[in-house]
Amino acid sequence: MNVFKFGGASVKDAEAVVNVGNILKRYQNQKLLVVISAMGKTTNGLERMLNAWYDGNSEDAAVELADIKSFHNTIIGHLIGGDLQNNYHEVDNLFIELECYIETRPVNTEFDFLYDQIIGYGELISTKIISIYLQTVGINNRWLDARNFINTTEDYRQARINWGSTEEIISNRLKPIVDRQLVITQGFIGRTNRNNTTTLGREGSDYSASIFAYCLNAESVTIWKDVAGVMNADPKRMENTIIMHEISFSKAIELAYYGATILHPKTIQPLLRKSIPLYVKSFLNPEAEGSVIKEKITNEEESIPCYIFKDDQVLVNLSSKDFSFIVESHLSSVFTMLAAAKVQINLMQNSAISFSFCSNYDERKFNPLIDQLSEIFAIEVVKNLTLITLHNYKKQGLPSLLDSKAILMEQHSKNVVQYVYR
Ligand code: ASP
Ligand code: MG
Repeated sequence: MNVFKFGGASVKDAEAVVNVGNILKRYQNQKLLVVISAMGKTTNGLERMLNAWYDGNSEDAAVELADIKSFHNTIIGHLIGGDLQNNYHEVDNLFIELECYIETRPVNTEFDFLYDQIIGYGELISTKIISIYLQTVGINNRWLDARNFINTTEDYRQARINWGSTEEIISNRLKPIVDRQLVITQGFIGRTNRNNTTTLGREGSDYSASIFAYCLNAESVTIWKDVAGVMNADPKRMENTIIMHEISFSKAIELAYYGATILHPKTIQPLLRKSIPLYVKSFLNPEAEGSVIKEKITNEEESIPCYIFKDDQVLVNLSSKDFSFIVESHLSSVFTMLAAAKVQINLMQNSAISFSFCSNYDERKFNPLIDQLSEIFAIEVVKNLTLITLHNYKKQGLPSLLDSKAILMEQHSKNVVQYVYR
């Protein structure tokens, strides 16, 4: 039994969906569970719709939703020449549910909760369309709602897995179905014991695939991407990038921790536990070797230098208002506020009179946090920065792209050096 994951780019238009069908045809004799993300950039569109609706701009929200609907309608039209109303009732119903949502004002106004009730529709819609399409081209399959299997905590937007119950439901109820037929399901979403939908964090479909693989005791996971494998840097930002054909679990965990976007950071650990290898392959060139992340690797690739970029960073510098030293009690209140605001630190540094940290900039979380911090500290905030992490950099030295940059913070450790720059 194997698990495949197809991300948004692999189902971004009708041609891409047909390509997914062609890939699946090659595996028709195998036991397979297929996890699929929302189509193309749908999740971003749903986020814009949600933000508009939440802020009371119902008209903007309706425009966003109409765009999302027409994007999917176009795909359906190309796939089988039908339309939502006539051929894809179930898809149409999902859109009707979304329309109903944004026609009324929210009762529970907690943003993260609402986010999770709405954003996962992208996955429900995409899997419905693909499942129906596959059926029409003779690839028999069963659509299943991932929320019936992935049981999570109530931590909206960053839900954690209740492993005991998830494992039990998947092995008792899902495994027998995958043994019989191809299963199509969603990434990214789960459900709480109180029946609320949750999401596992942006790009969480990789993690979903890994959860299913763990609980099904799968032989492998394959993530189909638009790149030829795991590269040592983003080829859009650096020249002479190379594919790492073999990567150890431990290196992959580190790279994901520092923000390598090739995989959702939580993906590897369940696989590591059961030594389930993870293949990264190109859906544009399914024959090509790609990369494999596994326990033991046999070659020298482990020491290849890797470069990880994180944009939209903000640097915050705190110092005490009375010019006293920054001491433990200050730090303790800073960390308490950061934890309460769910802001994660990517890099931090302290000196006698200041404490600085760099984190992702999310306006909704950040503005209230800054207000709170500025009650206690003198505060300086610099936005629009990039954090670069160089892993195994010694072999290669620093990339020339840093030459002309204003560096605002840097940190060195044995194997890793990090810079925050403008
Ligand atoms: N559709 C979600 C996102 O774009 C989950 C995923 O693609 O993995 O974040
Ligand atoms: Mg996606």
